[in-house]
Amino acid sequence: MSTTYVIGHQGPDTDAIVSALAYARLKATDDDSVTAARAGELNPETEFVLEYWDVEAPQLLEDATDEQLILVDHNEHSQTVSGAREATITEIVDHHRLGDVTTSEPIFCRIEPVGSTATIIAELFDEREVALDSQTAGLLLSGLVSDTVILRSPTTTDRDRVVAERLADIAEVDIDAYGKELLAQKSKLGEKSPREMVLGDFKSFEFGNSAVGIGQIETVDPEPVLDQRAAIRAAMDGIVDERDYDLLVLLVTDLLEEASTAFVVGEASDRVGPALDVEIADGEAFLPGVMSRKKQVVPPLESAFR
Ligand code: MN
Ligand code: MN
Repeated sequence: MSTTYVIGHQGPDTDAIVSALAYARLKATDDDSVTAARAGELNPETEFVLEYWDVEAPQLLEDATDEQLILVDHNEHSQTVSGAREATITEIVDHHRLGDVTTSEPIFCRIEPVGSTATIIAELFDEREVALDSQTAGLLLSGLVSDTVILRSPTTTDRDRVVAERLADIAEVDIDAYGKELLAQKSKLGEKSPREMVLGDFKSFEFGNSAVGIGQIETVDPEPVLDQRAAIRAAMDGIVDERDYDLLVLLVTDLLEEASTAFVVGEASDRVGPALDVEIADGEAFLPGVMSRKKQVVPPLESAFR
C-alpha cells in the first residue's frame, strides 16, 4: 500500500508538527500506511518540544507530487508543501479559514474555529475511542498552548480550555509552568538574520488577485526586534521583490503586553491602515490588543482586498 503523509503547512510551527505526529499515530491504529511528515525546518520552540517529550521529528517531505496527503493545520495551496497540487488530498483537519484546496473524491474534512488543530485531534482520539498516552498528550498540549499563547489569545475557546486541562492531566505537567517554558523558547531569536525573522513564522495568502505575505514574531521581549526595524524593513523589501508580493506585513507581537507592532511594505501598503483601522506612519503601526494573525489581521485585510 502506498504511504499517506500527514503534513502541516510550510514554515511549520509547533501545532503543525505535533498535529501531524499525533494524527498519524491515531490513523496508524488501523492503517499502518500513514506516517507523519513536515514541510520545512523546525523552529526552536518545536525542537524544544520534541526533545522534552523525546519524540523524533517527522520526516521532511520535499516534494508531494503524486503522493497522498492528509493536511493538518492549513487548507490553502499558498501554504502547502510543494507538489501538493499534484497530490491526492485524502483528509483535512484544521482550524483556519476555508481555503482553496479541492478534491475529486469526497473526503473526511474537519475544520472548526478553535484555538489549535491539536485541540481537534485530541477530541478525535476520544471520538474514535483511542486512549491518549502521556507522550501524545504532551505533544498535543504543546501545540495547543503554543497557538493560544497559554490560553490567552482571542482565538481560545472553552473547548480549548477543557482539552488543555485533560491533556495536562494525562501528560502530568502544569499548563502554566510548561507553557511559560514554551513561550521562552518561542522568544529566542538567537542569531537570526532579519530575513529569517520575517520568514520564520510566515504565511502567504491570495486575497482577490493580490499576493499577501504575513509574518509574525511572537516574543516576551519585542525591543531587540523593534530596534532592528531598518534592517527588517530592508529584508521585507527584498522579499517583496523576489516573490512579487503586493503586500508584506510583519507583526511583532508582545505576548505579555498583548499588542503588536506591524511593519508594512509593498505597493498595496495603503490598504492596511483603513483595513485595521489604524494610522500607519513610516510603514509602521501599533495595534493594541492584537495577538492573532488568523483572527484579527487576516479577515479585515482580506475584506479590504475584495
Ligand atoms: Mn500553524
Ligand atoms: Mn494551528
